[in-house]
Amino acid sequence: MSRNTDNSGISRRDLLSGVGAAAALGVAAGAAALPAARVTSWSEETDVLIAGSGAAGVSAAIAARGAGARVLLIESLSRFGGASAMSGGVVYAGGGTALQKKLGFEDSVESMIAFLSLAGARHLPLDKIQLYSEQSAAHFDWLVAQGVPYTEKFTRAKGLPMGNESLYFSGTELAWPARDLAPPAPRGHVPGVAGMNGGRTLMQALLSRAGDLGVDMRAGVAASRLVVESDGRMAGMLVTVDGQQHSIRARRGVVLACGGFIHNREMLRRYAPELYDCSVPWGNAGDQGDGINMGIAVGAEALRMHHGFAIAPVYPPENVLSGIVVNSAGQRFISEESYHGVLGDAIAYHQQGRAWLITDQRSAFPGPQDNFLAVASGNSIGDIAGQLQLPRGALQHNVAYYNRHAANGDDPLFHKSRDYLRPLQGPPYTAWDLSVDQAFFPAHTFGGLHTGVDGRVRNSFGEEIPGLYAAGRTSAGLPAAPYIASGLSVGDCTFFGRSAGRDAAGLKR
Ligand SMILES: Cc1cc2nc3c(=O)[nH]c(=O)nc-3n(C[C@H](O)[C@H](O)[C@H](O)COP(=O)(O)OP(=O)(O)OC[C@H]3O[C@@H](n4cnc5c(N)ncnc54)[C@H](O)[C@@H]3O)c2cc1C
Repeated sequence: MSRNTDNSGISRRDLLSGVGAAAALGVAAGAAALPAARVTSWSEETDVLIAGSGAAGVSAAIAARGAGARVLLIESLSRFGGASAMSGGVVYAGGGTALQKKLGFEDSVESMIAFLSLAGARHLPLDKIQLYSEQSAAHFDWLVAQGVPYTEKFTRAKGLPMGNESLYFSGTELAWPARDLAPPAPRGHVPGVAGMNGGRTLMQALLSRAGDLGVDMRAGVAASRLVVESDGRMAGMLVTVDGQQHSIRARRGVVLACGGFIHNREMLRRYAPELYDCSVPWGNAGDQGDGINMGIAVGAEALRMHHGFAIAPVYPPENVLSGIVVNSAGQRFISEESYHGVLGDAIAYHQQGRAWLITDQRSAFPGPQDNFLAVASGNSIGDIAGQLQLPRGALQHNVAYYNRHAANGDDPLFHKSRDYLRPLQGPPYTAWDLSVDQAFFPAHTFGGLHTGVDGRVRNSFGEEIPGLYAAGRTSAGLPAAPYIASGLSVGDCTFFGRSAGRDAAGLKR
């Protein structure tokens, strides 16, 4: 792949004319895919071509190489690892992993399936949930075998462990209604390193494994278009290196693992307006939706495009969970101890993006913090309600109702557990702004290409597009809104990335 010459083997006219290419393919005008017949000579060839070096792409590469294929993995940015390397590295795993057993926790595949299928979004892909849960313990063993380090330490504290503990309740398992739907078990498996370094540690292990296996990995190479045979099979990709186009033939399959689209404002506006106003786009700069758009251009179906992770990370500290969260009608709408992805979802998707945390003296944030600004304070709930311009009497009425029952250890509306339930009493009272555009309110996308459990991409008739695979946030996988537990995304990326890589490697033409 020369950096100085355009050796793509395709005419300049074809490169500039997505419309002509699309017409020849029978896809919508303007769709950027190229018929293979127009590639006169390929710059190079491989068996499996993977775009994206995050958890999904690298897991696919390890699996494809392990299955004996020659693998080329390209990354558009100058560094490998994607959002996965920025992440906490939490993998949601259960059903009796080695670590759960070692630390004395009982779990079952059935409990995990019940949690994943009942505690969040409806009509999720049950085939993926079942397979993921059944093979979760083995998948954890695989991560260990790749060199991801875990410690035999558990923490009960809510939130990503900042010590080196490797097991915790990473989701909403203990909050109502989840705790009544499935027996809770800690399933957040985190690399055993202190601080927010789990993702980096996990990706270092996977990247080093891929290198050892002989995966050809190249940074600064951006996938730009799929190249398609006349019968609809994937032939390869056009890629861009230093502004030059090259064509790479993939004999067995192409895997799109380019992450989601949280950094593509126009796609967000079109597909996921609820996430558009969230204050912090959580991802790396490459999460522009390239893989999803390339897939759509060859007829792939995209699913759950408006779903995403919208996060209101009010804890730690846990004492604030004794406060209450209210909407612009002055009403509670959730158990405050819910996982912060569930709370964030409720605010972003169901409360027009506006909410406040109301605390008393004991439940206030202990020190200055800039994630959530204090926007009202006073010696009575009425003072707060007036400053927030809530409907007259509503907040006072709702706090009185909450207090009356909390004094008896009861929360008739949302069954907040007694760990956090007590009357709000003792000034000063404070209202902290949890609005999506004012608070520290990170978000990333979950919508993506429709894939089977083998990673094969499907069109809207449910038919497979031969030789095309997608994984991670380029696909619509396990994570959906509401996001019920940390670790479902990286868990999905690594598990179904492996499936895609395996299947692509075995796809003989
Ligand atoms: C701060 C933070 C903490 C998080 N913590 C967790 C957690 O603990 N657990 C969890 O499950 N989830 C977590 N997430 C979410 C999780 O990190 C992502 O959803 C997940 O890593 C996505 O992985 P991926 O492989 O699909 O994409 P990515 O890791 O983003 O990788 C995609 C790669 O593809 C590259 N790319 C894009 N376009 C092209 C192109 N055209 N050609 C070539 N390459 C391209 C990108 O540059 C990128 O490197 C967190 C996210 C953030 C930001």
